[in-house]
Amino acid sequence: VKVSVLRIGHRLVRDDRVTTHAALVARAFGADRIYMTGIDQSVADSVASVARRWGGPDFQVEVIEDWKGLTKSWKKRGGKVAHLTMYGVNIDGVAKSINRQRELLVIIGAEKVPREAYDLADYNIAIGNQPHSEIAALAIFLDRVFCGKQLAKRFPGGRLRIVPTEKGKKVRGIA
Ligand code: SAM
Repeated sequence: VKVSVLRIGHRLVRDDRVTTHAALVARAFGADRIYMTGIDQSVADSVASVARRWGGPDFQVEVIEDWKGLTKSWKKRGGKVAHLTMYGVNIDGVAKSINRQRELLVIIGAEKVPREAYDLADYNIAIGNQPHSEIAALAIFLDRVFCGKQLAKRFPGGRLRIVPTEKGKKVRGIA
C-alpha cells in the first residue's frame, strides 16, 4: 500500500515543532509524501535537510492550499481516504479493509477539522476514542498499515548511517 498524508491546518508559531514532527513521522514510518496547508516552505526545507543527512530522498513535503480539491481528485483516481479522528470507529474494526487498499490518503488535523473532511473520508478512524495528538495517531495508524515492517525500511542515499549499538552512539559517514 502506498500512503500519502494530508495535514489540515497549522497554528502559527504554536504548531511549528508539531508540524515538522508530523512530517518526520510520516517519512520515518513509511509514507511517501505529506501535503500540508497553512505553512511556508521552511518545514519542507528542514525535512529535506534531514533526508540529505539520513537518506530517503524520495519523501516529499508539499505545501498546498486546496485540501478539498486534492482529496476529491485523489478519490477520483481511485485512492481511498482515511481521516484520523477521536470520533471515528476504532482502527481494529477497519484494519483489514485498510490493508486491502492500494493507495491511501491519511488526513490528520492540527486543530478542529472541517466537517467536509468527515464526509469526504471513506473511513473515519479513531486510534482509541480519547483525545491525544495527530503525531501519535499517525504513528500508530502507519504501524497498523505496514504491520511493523516500516521500522526496517531502508533510506538509501544519505550522508550518514546509524550503526545500532546497545550503548552510545555510532554513526558512519557515507562517502
Ligand atoms: N477535537 C479534535 C478532533 O477533532 O479530533 C482534536 C484535535 S487534535 C489536537 C489534532 C488531531 O489529532 C486530530 O485532528 C486528529 O487527526 C488527531 N487525533 C487526536 N486524537 C485522536 C484519536 N483518538 N484518534 C485519531 N486521531 C486523533
